[in-house]
Amino acid sequence: MRQQLVETLVNKGIMDEAVLKAIGKIPRHLFMDSGFIDHAYVDKAFPIAADQTISQPYTVAFQSELLQVKPDDKVLEIGTGSGYQCAVLIELGAKVYSIERQQELFKKTSKFLPKIGYRAKKLIFGDGYKGLPEEAPYDSIIVTAGAPFVPKPLLGQLKVDGRLVIPVGEDVQVMTLFIRKGPKEFEKHELGEFRFVPLLEDKN
Ligand code: SAH
Repeated sequence: MRQQLVETLVNKGIMDEAVLKAIGKIPRHLFMDSGFIDHAYVDKAFPIAADQTISQPYTVAFQSELLQVKPDDKVLEIGTGSGYQCAVLIELGAKVYSIERQQELFKKTSKFLPKIGYRAKKLIFGDGYKGLPEEAPYDSIIVTAGAPFVPKPLLGQLKVDGRLVIPVGEDVQVMTLFIRKGPKEFEKHELGEFRFVPLLEDKN
């Protein structure tokens, strides 16, 4: 079933061999609640705890491809959720720092990922809008929830030549890639429309 999912992703245009290999290897059914396990290898998003979703495999593959992860890259993820995207990044050889603002998901995923052999450098309970300045700069940053605007701290925490992949918009999001060209220079690419659960601002 996993190989069929990989073929579906190839047919939809995913070409990065390392990304396809990661998706072909990771047991996505273990990241889902039991009620949805039958659907784990269908190319769709599904509900997880705390009214959130595990992203559609195509979206995970598309974002992962845009990051161009090299082994040992330092990668920051905003929105740990089920931990599936985090596992893909770890398979790609990244040192992953991932932030989640829902305590329930943070706790669940912090226990679950190491149990199946995926060790992030750090999983953090907190607000992704601020990034994680104490570990910056990063080779790349991935936002896995729809951001109403681009949080400035995230751009500032990229290395030169670093990449930020972020879906930007309210109801529908435009997948946006920023590449840092210098201290204040960023290249911007817009890469089609997607739908994500919202990146929520910390009201505290
Ligand atoms: N990468 C996840 C996708 C989860 S959906 C996966 O592979 O399963 C997006 C996640 O972003 C949700 O878990 C949501 O709680 C989280 N999120 C929303 N706003 C956030 C914020 N400001 N900081 C950190 N995480 C946030």
